Amino acid sequence: MNELLSDRINKMEESATLAMAKKARELKAQGVDIISLSLGEPDFKTPSYIQEAAKKAIDEGKWFSYPPVAGYQDFREAIAEKLQKDNHITAAKAENIVVSTGAKHSIANVFMSLLNPGEEVIVFSPYWVSYAEIIKLAEGVPVLIEGTIENDFKATAAQLQAAITPKTKAIIYSSPCNPTGSVFNKAELEAIAKIVKQRDDIFVIADEIYEHINFSGAHVSMASLEGMFERTITVNGFSKGYAMTGWRVGYICAPLWIAKACEKIQGQFTSGGNTIAQRAALAGLKGDQTDTKKMAEAYLRRRDLVIGLLREIPGFKVNTPEGAFYSFPDVSSYFGKSDGSFTVKDADDLCLYILNNAYVSLVTGAAFGAPDCIRLSFAASDDELVEAIKRIKNVLSKLK
Ligand code: PMP
Ligand code: GLU
Repeated sequence: MNELLSDRINKMEESATLAMAKKARELKAQGVDIISLSLGEPDFKTPSYIQEAAKKAIDEGKWFSYPPVAGYQDFREAIAEKLQKDNHITAAKAENIVVSTGAKHSIANVFMSLLNPGEEVIVFSPYWVSYAEIIKLAEGVPVLIEGTIENDFKATAAQLQAAITPKTKAIIYSSPCNPTGSVFNKAELEAIAKIVKQRDDIFVIADEIYEHINFSGAHVSMASLEGMFERTITVNGFSKGYAMTGWRVGYICAPLWIAKACEKIQGQFTSGGNTIAQRAALAGLKGDQTDTKKMAEAYLRRRDLVIGLLREIPGFKVNTPEGAFYSFPDVSSYFGKSDGSFTVKDADDLCLYILNNAYVSLVTGAAFGAPDCIRLSFAASDDELVEAIKRIKNVLSKLK
């Protein structure tokens, strides 16, 4: 019956991260001892002061009606204040903020609002799985510029310049980056900004959702650079820094005309973000940030653990992530090898081989535009990480 579905959905790829997580969940339900390092999601509980705020909001009994489409005014004000104070986006005001059902939804709103058919979006690759599919859904064309492991997976300003055409409408990157952990420093962002400022009709979508998980020191926001506020849509949310993936709260800060467009589309699609989750996220912003800092410290410790162990696996090329919670090793030295019954052709096969033999779920780099790599999330306990990498190393040693 699929032929009766729309071309739109038939052309769309399933989210590889969520598909792998589903597979791992199913195997676990069958009793298989799976270690799931596929889904990028904090293994911490939402901090208790945020949980308490949600309970309080329910008890107050006054947050059960539809919210304002763009989010509660006090929440938008608090976000604007945070962006001014922490991110030096001095022009940010409540009216520039649109709260959505997760940052993924924010990104969908932006592309649906900005793109006309055939307009190009330059995507810094490796890139987060959903960018390309959302761009295509909005009838845009993703144009990839590729960073290499030698350059810490960072595509350069020169590559950006070469990729710009009269059809370019936007560029998108995440920093800290999912899946590579790379972080753009101020000089690199300034070089990108300089190119963007040559035109008045190109916009930057700066996905800063891993802002709080940054091991390199300062986080720099594109919208804080001179002349960039009017050209930048900052995307952020609560899933990562506040361990709130299931609450589904994300937001944009955008020039007013783009914020209004996103509010308009959201008014037709969802009527706005969940009320209790907004009250909880507001408490997250206003509260003591110690939990967020502690979680980031734990990720840094695990990063060092994981990188050290992965570097001991023969044939793995491993860079050092400066943020987020992923390692993205180049595993191409295993392509063409076999255990006698199964031959690993590519990264998809290697993930399958590891899942079926080591019972560890990972995600193929192909889903992120990097077919030589695989992604491992280190948002898991030390014990799980050590055991998972031991198992991976063991089953890979059988490939000749
Ligand atoms: N951007 C990036 C780079 C991500 O890794 C994620 C992870 N889910 C998102 C956006 C979306 O986050 P959420 O929808 O949970 O807010
Ligand atoms: N961002 C996470 C990941 O990359 C969550 C899954 C998703 O939303 O795709 O794994």
